[in-house]
Amino acid sequence: MAEKTVPFTKAQLESIIQKYPTPFHIYDEQAIRDNARKLLAAFSWAPGFKEYFAVKATPNPHILKILKEEGIGADCSSLAELILSQQAGIVGENIIFSSNDTPAEEYQAAKDIGAIINLDDITHIDYLEKHVGIPEIISFRYNPGSLLQGGNDIIGYPEEAKYGLTREQILSAYKIMQDKGVKRFALHTMVMSNELSGDSFIGTAVMMFDLVLEIYQKLGIRIEMIDLGGGIGVPYRPEQQAVDLDFVGQGIRKAYEEKIVANGLHPLNITMECGRMITGPYGYLVSTALHKKEIYKNYIGLDACMANLMRPALYGSYHHITVMGKEEYPLDHVYDVTGSLCENNDKFAIDRSLPKIDIGDIVVIHDAGAHGHAMGFNYNGKLRSSELLLKADGSVSMIRRAETLADYFATLDFETCELPLAAATKNK
Ligand SMILES: *Cc1c(COP(=O)(O)O)cnc(C)c1O
Repeated sequence: MAEKTVPFTKAQLESIIQKYPTPFHIYDEQAIRDNARKLLAAFSWAPGFKEYFAVKATPNPHILKILKEEGIGADCSSLAELILSQQAGIVGENIIFSSNDTPAEEYQAAKDIGAIINLDDITHIDYLEKHVGIPEIISFRYNPGSLLQGGNDIIGYPEEAKYGLTREQILSAYKIMQDKGVKRFALHTMVMSNELSGDSFIGTAVMMFDLVLEIYQKLGIRIEMIDLGGGIGVPYRPEQQAVDLDFVGQGIRKAYEEKIVANGLHPLNITMECGRMITGPYGYLVSTALHKKEIYKNYIGLDACMANLMRPALYGSYHHITVMGKEEYPLDHVYDVTGSLCENNDKFAIDRSLPKIDIGDIVVIHDAGAHGHAMGFNYNGKLRSSELLLKADGSVSMIRRAETLADYFATLDFETCELPLAAATKNK
């Protein structure tokens, strides 16, 4: 069971709201740190273990800096993400550039900052060489294709994914790089997303260890680092269970001893690129109930909308909801909890049993710390909200201000005009 609690009381939240109006995202710094330490502890046995935080999950340099202090690097896939990492002081091989469909200038920036470049396709070797040159260390992203045969433990459908090199291509790719004089090699894969089965991650490691051995036997290349990607899930629903990181760490350790140590390939650095599990459960979207309407169904309209958290509308994802001060009330009302977009899928919850909600109630949406604010957009003229950090001592600081109308209009080169409302008032 994933307990769905909030790290603040109603009174605390009310005083935060006096200074920072809803809607906003708020991140629990101590919980993020504790969680990061748990992941690192599970792999404390592993040589050179490194977690590269997938920046796309929570692209805020204040968050990246906290993670850096815990010894975590960055997984980037765009120029902006490289700059965010640099702002947080994460540079060099503390960055892996796991991009796809990448423009030359982004490869150039990744090379300039000293990041490990992880190529997504065999044709990208020529592209990289032509535009930026061959770097000192190179990584390839492996796509194992169909995993349904072979009795493996991995859940996922890599054959449907646009990423990576096929089994045949991967050996050729290392050979090409070897012939070009490259001496340092990494191997990457990411076959799962939001997965809660620990066995899947052990299965992925086994597959990668086997491939490291095959590459060594066929090409004489000693891979120095494997990257198992991200994909560790978040127990969004209260009845779900978080991945047991120690179980995963120990399972991978056993496979490492059997496949890597036993074949004389120790040390092999093990790395991951988790994003969602690092910040997801420790961010909350805080909003206020604006409207209540009763037609064929009962609706609660919030001051937040899909522009603040797109996952429910995009994937039909469940996000737990707490109505502040009503945690112990019976869940005897059924609501659709909506935002204000002119899109009927702008709903945070459908047919959700909740306590009776009144206008003005503070409604907290859980597990919004990853792919929440990050996926924000401006459709319907909606503005992205602020991001706040709840620090270990209970104080709060703003780590990104809310957008203003000036931000919305900043990209338009058009004669400014006053809002009709303002003009109408003036004429009176
Ligand atoms: C999204 C992504 C990750 C992180 O995935 P999570 O599910 O957030 O752990 C890691 N690597 C790559 C290449 C990604 O695209």
